[in-house]
Amino acid sequence: MKRIGVLTSGGDASGMNPALRAVVRTAIVNGLEVIGIERGYEGLLNGWLRPMELSSVGGIINRGGTILRTARSERFKTEEGLQQASRILHDNHIDGLIVIGGDGSFRGAHRLQEVSGVPVIGIPATIDNDIGGTEYTLGYDTALQVAMDAIDKIRDTADSFERIFVIEVMGRSRGFIAAAVGLAGGAEAVLIPEVPFDLVQVCEKLKKGIARGKRSAIIVTAEGAASAHDVATFVEMYLREETRATVLGYTQRGGSPTATDRIMGARFGALAVELLLRGQSRMMTAWQRGELVSVPLSATWEQPRELDTSLLKLNEVLAS
Ligand code: ADP
Repeated sequence: MKRIGVLTSGGDASGMNPALRAVVRTAIVNGLEVIGIERGYEGLLNGWLRPMELSSVGGIINRGGTILRTARSERFKTEEGLQQASRILHDNHIDGLIVIGGDGSFRGAHRLQEVSGVPVIGIPATIDNDIGGTEYTLGYDTALQVAMDAIDKIRDTADSFERIFVIEVMGRSRGFIAAAVGLAGGAEAVLIPEVPFDLVQVCEKLKKGIARGKRSAIIVTAEGAASAHDVATFVEMYLREETRATVLGYTQRGGSPTATDRIMGARFGALAVELLLRGQSRMMTAWQRGELVSVPLSATWEQPRELDTSLLKLNEVLAS
């Protein structure tokens, strides 16, 4: 193996840059050439390639997003798109590819290897931490920190005005962020898609808290469970208390990576290069039970990640 390619794909996540830095520097130190592919698979199809030097990844360890840019590509999913991407890899003598992204990107990487024969390795990066086969994905810790800081700030206003706030966090189908940040922010109620809920019960719980002298309340909802506006409207009608809705939205995606995202980015990035050098392919760097490991890329869709509902139960007790 002489030359490898690296790209970032799908939703951006903090920690992509630290991982990219680790990939580029580990590869160069080990005598490999590195080609950065801009804008994910769309860039691969278009041949948007740039040689990476040690200095190309200088000053990015503390930056959110991805300096390689990211994109979604419908064309890549087609047979013609995969053939074109394969041609670009071969024409540019790229004999190993590292894909930093989410499970969609890994399905794409898997198919690309089938078509091109070029070994691929995945590095999991998505703020939702919902990829099978790994207990950690880059960007999750930064997203939690950002969402918790927002809850803390909103709590100041909620306390001052003695109001109820409903805060919507990301999580279209999974409640990992909501469950964790609800606990970290001491939310009075947490709504996630995986667990059925009853807004009447939520209101009755808030009512008891108010009767006991609670000055404010915060409800955290994952976007896939219920919209903050719908919940706020219901709560205001039911309790006849002023209730405000805030959608954190894209603020959760960006921001300087936390120490955890930098350290995990460094470890995943270095391991990805080692895996290619060891002749491995269709693998993903992963975190399991406190250890850095590698698992087949297919684990990302074959082993759906379980949400630990004990976080919700603990919060029920602590935020009563
Ligand atoms: P993420 O990687 O964050 O889950 P997406 O699901 O949007 O993000 O996937 C990123 C890109 O990966 C898509 O735009 C597409 O080009 C490619 N991709 C996703 N699913 C497949 C698939 N089943 N086959 C081939 N390519 C795919």
